[in-house]
Amino acid sequence: MKAAVLRAFDQDLLIEDVAIADPREREVLVRIMATGVCSSDLSTIRGKTASALPLIPGHEAAGVVERVGPGVSKVRPGDRVVLSWAPNCGHCFYCHESHPTLCDVYGGAAVSGGLWDQTSRLGPASTPINHYSCVSSFAELAVVPEAGCIIIPPDVPFAVAALVGCAVTTGFGAVVNDAGVRPGDSVAVVGVGGVGINAIQAAALSGAETILAVDSNPDKADLARQNGATHFLHALDDGLIDTVRGLTGGRGVDHAIECTGRPMAMRNAYAITRPAGSVVIVGIAPVGAELSIPAIGFPGSKKRLIGSIYGGGVPERDITRILSLYQSGRMHLDAQIGARIGLGQVNDALRWLEQGVLARTMIEFA
Ligand SMILES: [Zn+2]
Ligand SMILES: [Zn+2]
Repeated sequence: MKAAVLRAFDQDLLIEDVAIADPREREVLVRIMATGVCSSDLSTIRGKTASALPLIPGHEAAGVVERVGPGVSKVRPGDRVVLSWAPNCGHCFYCHESHPTLCDVYGGAAVSGGLWDQTSRLGPASTPINHYSCVSSFAELAVVPEAGCIIIPPDVPFAVAALVGCAVTTGFGAVVNDAGVRPGDSVAVVGVGGVGINAIQAAALSGAETILAVDSNPDKADLARQNGATHFLHALDDGLIDTVRGLTGGRGVDHAIECTGRPMAMRNAYAITRPAGSVVIVGIAPVGAELSIPAIGFPGSKKRLIGSIYGGGVPERDITRILSLYQSGRMHLDAQIGARIGLGQVNDALRWLEQGVLARTMIEFA
């Protein structure tokens, strides 16, 4: 199969013919139909996440089940599926604690570059290529754990399903699961990107009254408003904190959702949140970055500082729910998809992302 392989950090991905092994026990071979190019792919490719090479990136994908391994009961060949990049085992400490995104089995697999048994199905057996988050979708085919396959309705386009596989669920869940936004609340979304616009939509769906979009690029103001923001604020404005207080009864927002991965933005998110409010950190910072906040006021602030990954809930439940909201016209996802390209243009897509392109580039396979 054709795949885009990362062999050295900060270099172009190489389009290669890669061998792919048969699915083993409770694994599924999926023909990828669409895969989005996400900032997490870019961070990995630029060497900011300390991944072991070589690997095939890509973790936001949808496709068709081609073949199933022994013991698979969840899907059958021909099923249309979106892939979860955190397929959880259902039996470990964190799965039992209702934190499936922290699953020990998935975590071990992700670190190893393998699937659940920590071995790879990609490349020759003597020199295997690592999987990326149990997906590796910058490729015509992927072998994934059965648990990572989520069946999608027949009328949902593959590109939309792929988008829900990462960016949408991450932003939606941060608001709905981790912040727990209620009708009438005020919400600031710091960083209006692929995740941020979905956080804005989820805040609007949850009934938030004031939704502040905060970004350093004023060109994103219209996009933020189209997705439900009530105000757009410049992230680098010296008066940001005062402006936010002015819009929120002098207090600060009830919830801030940070989606940039920049420590400076995380501090801003903390600063603009009211006492006893929730600060949800979604953005992935580079290895070595640290977050500092004023320690003296922290106990008295009663603020909740919450880490949020993959929406912080149950990804399969949330993905299914979001697709249903899309079908009923309440989540607006089509406009989030920008250029549609072939795998051969993947390096262009990474550069567009670095240059700050607003819409998601989708790699599609005929
Ligand atoms: Zn992603
Ligand atoms: Zn588990």
